[in-house]
Amino acid sequence: AADLKDADPEIAQAIELELGRQRHEIELIASENIVSKAVLEAQGSILTNKYAEGYPGRRYYGGCQFVDIAETLAIERVTRLFDCKFANVQPNSGSQANQAVFLALMQPGDAFMGLDLAAGGHLTHGSPVNLSGKWFKPVPYGVRRDDHRIDMEAVARLAEEHKPKIIIAGGSGYPRHWDFAAFRAIADSVGAYFFVDMAHFAGLVAGGVHPSPFPHAHVVTSTTHKTLRGPRGGLILTNDADIAKKINSAVFPGLQGGPLMHVIAAKAVAFGEALRPDFKVYARQVVDNARALASTLKDAGFDLASGGTDNHLMLVDLRPKNLTGKAAEASLGRASITCNKNGVPFDTASPMVTSGIRLGAPAATSRGFGVAEFKKIGELIAETLDGLSTNGDANADVEAKVKAAVLELTGRFPIY
Ligand code: PLP
Repeated sequence: AADLKDADPEIAQAIELELGRQRHEIELIASENIVSKAVLEAQGSILTNKYAEGYPGRRYYGGCQFVDIAETLAIERVTRLFDCKFANVQPNSGSQANQAVFLALMQPGDAFMGLDLAAGGHLTHGSPVNLSGKWFKPVPYGVRRDDHRIDMEAVARLAEEHKPKIIIAGGSGYPRHWDFAAFRAIADSVGAYFFVDMAHFAGLVAGGVHPSPFPHAHVVTSTTHKTLRGPRGGLILTNDADIAKKINSAVFPGLQGGPLMHVIAAKAVAFGEALRPDFKVYARQVVDNARALASTLKDAGFDLASGGTDNHLMLVDLRPKNLTGKAAEASLGRASITCNKNGVPFDTASPMVTSGIRLGAPAATSRGFGVAEFKKIGELIAETLDGLSTNGDANADVEAKVKAAVLELTGRFPIY
């Protein structure tokens, strides 16, 4: 029963180093967050020892009476949170949740529509290197050239032409709200299912600061670890009993074996947190902070895809500053500001280089940063990147100065 640091000092050291990184860097990766100690405790619990194939009350293993409590609570809480009838909380990830929807509602070779990866879509929405693009027939739609908003006329035209089985809304790099009602009308006009992948903005829906995919969507998936601020995992929601049945069979036994009961317990804890009034305050603050960062960057001469943000994330177009996403990510990283390079709409740079960076507010908002801190972050980013565009690789002095400012700022908002 040795502690980790005695049983496995190398892994203990890696965790300790990562804790230091999370404490002292400003985390702007839009898909990340900082979970509560309660979520960590549930996820690190002895529930990891339990096999529980099946669903609460209908398991293929004995001794499931207590993990059933956890999964039933997770289902009750998440259906209350998103005001829907059925939930499957077993998907191990957002990708597996999406695979389950495909398995439940399509046959190999069927056509479906999703936002193009290059316009902010996700790999699992039809990228040729992903199962979704290899086993099904993706018909990608994009954003308009002039304002980078979803091109709903193209969505309608492509749907009419290709008669997809499923139309997906949602993505990983789209900074604006989605017109769920318009998508549903198009889906209805061609007899398609309307599927919303709300992985990125689920926490904003839960907090009441983003339109809900219900009642428009036939089926909704999400990750639990982004704005929703839970453990790493996925979930699937629907109001349709028939679809719910198909989804349950698709998750188990279709795709997965034993569910991760420790993660499901941690999901229940996170859903409980999201049901509390202070989560609404958090969600509102995420949106306010993202806006503050966006306007500070615009004032500093940066271009933003679509001109700004309605949600928790933004895409900064670095072409006016003659910088690549790759160089910007590396320089900001040396200054202890963590983000990811990201293509911008109609980018001509390769995916390993890109012309942009994606910035998000969820994680730094969780540590307590408000609008004043996000304006400061915008200034620090501008200082670092202006240094980089003037000095090229020799930006070490600026990076060291910004890193010291980051250390001061994070020191005032400690985590764990
Ligand atoms: N769907 C969307 C829109 C995402 O942004 C992501 C993650 O980036 C996923 C699905 C996949 O989630 P996971 O990384 O848990 O497989």
